[in-house]
Amino acid sequence: MKKNYSIMEIGTLKGDLADKGRIMVGQELGLTGSEISLNYAPAGTFAPFVHSHKLNEEVYIILSGKGMFMVDGEEFLIQEGTVIRVAPGSERAIKAEDNMAYICIQAQGGSLTQATMDDAEITKSKASWMKDQ
Ligand code: ZN
Repeated sequence: MKKNYSIMEIGTLKGDLADKGRIMVGQELGLTGSEISLNYAPAGTFAPFVHSHKLNEEVYIILSGKGMFMVDGEEFLIQEGTVIRVAPGSERAIKAEDNMAYICIQAQGGSLTQATMDDAEITKSKASWMKDQ
């Protein structure tokens, strides 16, 4: 029977991810509507490079560290907890001032037509493994 989920282990942010630098999860998980990368940029490095996307918007979620983010020549501080959305067609780049871990999610701009409760459907009030408290 075909599984309706996929799962992968990326290890620890400061160990496994720091060693690899970048982990792309889309192919391994079989994503069909987005691409997600997990990134680790050592202090003093630029990551990944100045670039833009034709169709995709990107969301960067800073998990740890701090640095600078640039969009179309405008620079601003980023740190743990900062979330940035960059529109398609914009130039962007990151500079890590401290060791920085972040997630980047790409999806085609304008492609989301519903979300959260507009798309969700409650199928059971509880799963069998949820115990009464
Ligand atoms: Zn990108």
